[in-house]
Amino acid sequence: MTEAWRPGDDDERRGATGPVRVRVPAKVNLHLGVGPLRRDGYHELNTVYHAISIYDELTARRGDTLTLTMEGEGTGELALDDSNLVIRAAHALAGYAGVMPHARLHLRKQIPLAGGLAGGSADAAATLVACDALWGTGLSRDELAGIAADLGSDVPFLIHGGTALGTGRGEAISPVLARPTSWHWVVAIADGGLSTPQAYRELDRLRETGAAGPALGSTDALLGALRQRDPRVLARTLGNDLQDAALSLRPSLATTLKAGEAAGALAGIVSGSGPTCVFLTADAADAERVAAELAAAEVCRQVRTAHGPVHGARIT
Ligand code: ATP
Repeated sequence: MTEAWRPGDDDERRGATGPVRVRVPAKVNLHLGVGPLRRDGYHELNTVYHAISIYDELTARRGDTLTLTMEGEGTGELALDDSNLVIRAAHALAGYAGVMPHARLHLRKQIPLAGGLAGGSADAAATLVACDALWGTGLSRDELAGIAADLGSDVPFLIHGGTALGTGRGEAISPVLARPTSWHWVVAIADGGLSTPQAYRELDRLRETGAAGPALGSTDALLGALRQRDPRVLARTLGNDLQDAALSLRPSLATTLKAGEAAGALAGIVSGSGPTCVFLTADAADAERVAAELAAAEVCRQVRTAHGPVHGARIT
């Protein structure tokens, strides 16, 4: 796994004087195995995260108080108060490091809201990295990951990026050995979001009534496929236990998945808790072809191409 960021020594001591701009990717789950519900209300997960080239960007400047401005995807639906993961992340870091949470933050969102691409978690990860540099708190990667895990299960991965195994409730990250290959994706962004807690509740309901498909097995086949360079092999190993739940809550996603495969994708899955669907393609040119055909089929709000793995939250 690569370093998420590495400030200069001066930055670590004094903090940055100019603006700190951090770019953070969206994630997809190549394998999302959902285990039993734990006593703390979370499900035990066995997942392989993969960071793709759809980005949010957070800029942090020095300020006398903590302020946030936003533009882009879904920001009209987001409050600027403590319910915003950017504000929560800034407070969490300041509290941990014993500094005042003073900064002028600006968020540019391209990752769709409640899309199953972990956009909110990405923004929290970007905030931790940006404010750590702005304030010169110079935390170790492990310390940042600890704060990240308290903010959300996907946040530690979005600091690291790349492709990584996630266990526990998804917050325990370990690197995946893979050949340096880029995989090419088509991303079908739906109208409106799906609530992650609702998707988990629906999976529990489907399992209780025997209506859920068999749970995914181990990640071995997927991890083996990642060590090869053949997207056809990888395509056969993608899987998501939450897919049945997402399809039950949003039946129209079945049409989107069929349309992507009819357009020539090697495989399509719902990303995380949905409703975004992602399609693996043979190469970059194929991704463009599939994307054009999928857009013409008018089965989703927006179609984008992306590649992965990419770095986690990084100062640009
Ligand atoms: P995940 O896959 O991590 O469960 P998601 O991709 O489905 O999440 P997100 O875009 O991360 O969805 O948003 C989940 C919820 O988090 C939103 O509905 C919103 O209420 C809340 N939220 C708080 N702050 C943010 C933020 N900065 N960006 C996006 N969502 C945020």
